[in-house]
Amino acid sequence: MLTFLIAHDQQVRLSEDLQLLHFVRRGYLSGSHCGGQYTKYIDPELKLLDSIALYLANDIPGDTVAVALDTSTSRVQFILAKNNTLTDQDIRTAAIFFPTIIEQEAVDLLEFALFNSPRTVKSRIQKCAEIDMDVVDKLLRAYKFMDISDEFKDTSSILSQLTEMWSMSDPHSMLRQAFTELTSADSLKPEVIITNEHFTRLSMFAYFIVNSRFFCDHDGFQDILNHAQVRKYRRRLYKLSRYFDGANRIHATARRFTAQDAGISYVWIENHASWDLVKMSTSPGAVASVYFPTITEAEVTRVQPNIMEQWTPTLRTFIHAELRLLLHLEHYSPSVRGNAKRRFIGCNRESCLCCGEWVREWNKTEGTRWIISGGSALSFKTWALVGVPEYVDQTVINRVQHCLMSAIEKLTDYRRVLSDSDQLLIDSILKLNRR
Ligand SMILES: [Zn+2]
Repeated sequence: MLTFLIAHDQQVRLSEDLQLLHFVRRGYLSGSHCGGQYTKYIDPELKLLDSIALYLANDIPGDTVAVALDTSTSRVQFILAKNNTLTDQDIRTAAIFFPTIIEQEAVDLLEFALFNSPRTVKSRIQKCAEIDMDVVDKLLRAYKFMDISDEFKDTSSILSQLTEMWSMSDPHSMLRQAFTELTSADSLKPEVIITNEHFTRLSMFAYFIVNSRFFCDHDGFQDILNHAQVRKYRRRLYKLSRYFDGANRIHATARRFTAQDAGISYVWIENHASWDLVKMSTSPGAVASVYFPTITEAEVTRVQPNIMEQWTPTLRTFIHAELRLLLHLEHYSPSVRGNAKRRFIGCNRESCLCCGEWVREWNKTEGTRWIISGGSALSFKTWALVGVPEYVDQTVINRVQHCLMSAIEKLTDYRRVLSDSDQLLIDSILKLNRR
C-alpha cells in the first residue's frame, strides 16, 4: 500500500511537471532551435513499422498505434498496441489492412488511408497548402542546386515520371512546381473533396521535396527562416510524404512476411492499461516554485498568458503504446542479455520525450537494444510511470525536471537553486581541493 502511495505521489508530481513543461516549452521552442529529426537514414525495418502504424491509426486526433515484429517463432508476427482502449474499429481496420497489402497495389494503400482517416489526410494536405510560396521562392533562390541526378538521387524512381508530367528537368523549376501544386488555394477550401488521385499526387510531391538535397540544407536558410519555422515547414511536408513513402515501402517489403496461403500474421495486445486518475495542483506557479521558490504566479503567467485557462487540474494517465509493446515482447520473447539484437518499435508519430528517455535507460541497464521512432521533444502530461523497474521511471522523472528547469531559466531571470545533495557534493570537492 505504501509503495502505491509513493508511486501515485510521484505520478502527480511528474504530471504537474509535464503539464508546466508543455506550456513553458511552447514559449521556448517558438523562438529557438528545438531539435527533431527528419532524416532518411533510418533503418528500413523501423521505417516499415512506422508506415504500418501510420496506416493503422484511425481518424481521432492523438490516436497512437505502435507496431513491432516478433521473430521468435517460426512464423513471424506483427504485434500491435494502442495508446487508448482498443476498439472494434481498430480490429476491423487491421483485418482489412493486412489482406490489402498482399492483394492490392501500392496506390490502393493510399486509397485505404484516405478511406480510413479522411480528416487526418485532409488536415495534412491543408497544412502543406498553408506554406508561404513567397518564402519558398526566397529559399529556392538562396539554395545552390546540384545537377538533376545529384539533387534528386533518392527519388530516382519517380523522377522520369515528374519530368514528363511537368515537361521540365531543371531542379529549381521542378521543386517550385511541386510546391506550387502543394500550396494550391483549392486545397484550403473547406468544401473541397479530396480524391484518391489528388491525395496520391500531393503525397508524391511532398515525398519528392522531402527527399531532395534542398530539403536537407540546414545552413542555407537561416537568414530567411528561423529554426522553428524551418522545422514547421519540414514537419508538414514530411507528414504528408509518409503516405506515399509508406505505401511503396509496405507494398515492396511487407509481402515477405506472408506465411504460405495464410496471410500476414498479426495480433493486437489487449489494452488493460490502468488509467490512473491524477489530481494536480491548480496553480502553475506552485508547480514552478518547487524548483524556483520565489517565482510568482504572475511571472509564470507572463511566460504563457493563456496558461490559467488551459491548465487541467485533473486528468487520466496511461502507459504509452511503445512501452506496453516493449514490455509485452520482453515478457513473451525476451532479448538475449549480453548479446542482444536490435529490435524496433514503429509508431504513427514520433515517440515522445519520456518514452525516448525510458527506452534509453532500459537499454542501458537491461543490456537490450530497443529502438523506437524519432527523437521528439514533445512531452505529454498524460504520460504514466510504468512502475517496473522503478529506477527507469526515476530517470524519466529526472530528465523532465531538468528540461522544465532549463525552459524556465531560458524564459525568466530565475536560476535554479542547488539541491542539498548538490551543495554537499560541491562542499566536499572544495574541501578536498583545499587540503
Ligand atoms: Zn510516449
